[in-house]
Amino acid sequence: MSAYDTNNIFAKILRGEIPSTRVYEDADTVAFMDVMPQAPGHVLVIPKAGSRNILDADPAVLAKTIPVVQKIAVAVKEAFEADGVYVAQFNEPAAGQTVFHLHFHVIPRHESSPLKP
Ligand code: 5GP
Repeated sequence: MSAYDTNNIFAKILRGEIPSTRVYEDADTVAFMDVMPQAPGHVLVIPKAGSRNILDADPAVLAKTIPVVQKIAVAVKEAFEADGVYVAQFNEPAAGQTVFHLHFHVIPRHESSPLKP
């Protein structure tokens, strides 16, 4: 596995070098809208601490990130009047990861639109 690269897109978003629509921020975590949403309300939740993905993440960072994932899931379910919420997280290219800063996808889902994982 490659080392964490501080020039990845999400690191640049954290530093404010690339614009994003932030919907939540605390001392350890940021959530912002996905620029190419799989469905309306697609939010990405990322820790501020740099790790490539879950494989090299500090468990203490994960412990702070997951409650925010839950908070965002509850919020998007209500805001988008969803029937459910899809939470996804990919590690390394073979698993579909394209941006190499740990992130969680939180996507409201409706029974009327089929799930496309
Ligand atoms: P992955 O496939 O790595 O799990 O997902 C990366 C996600 O980042 C994709 O859903 C993609 O649309 C999103 N993304 C890529 N570049 C940008 C960007 O510059 N801004 C935002 N907000 N999202 C991005």
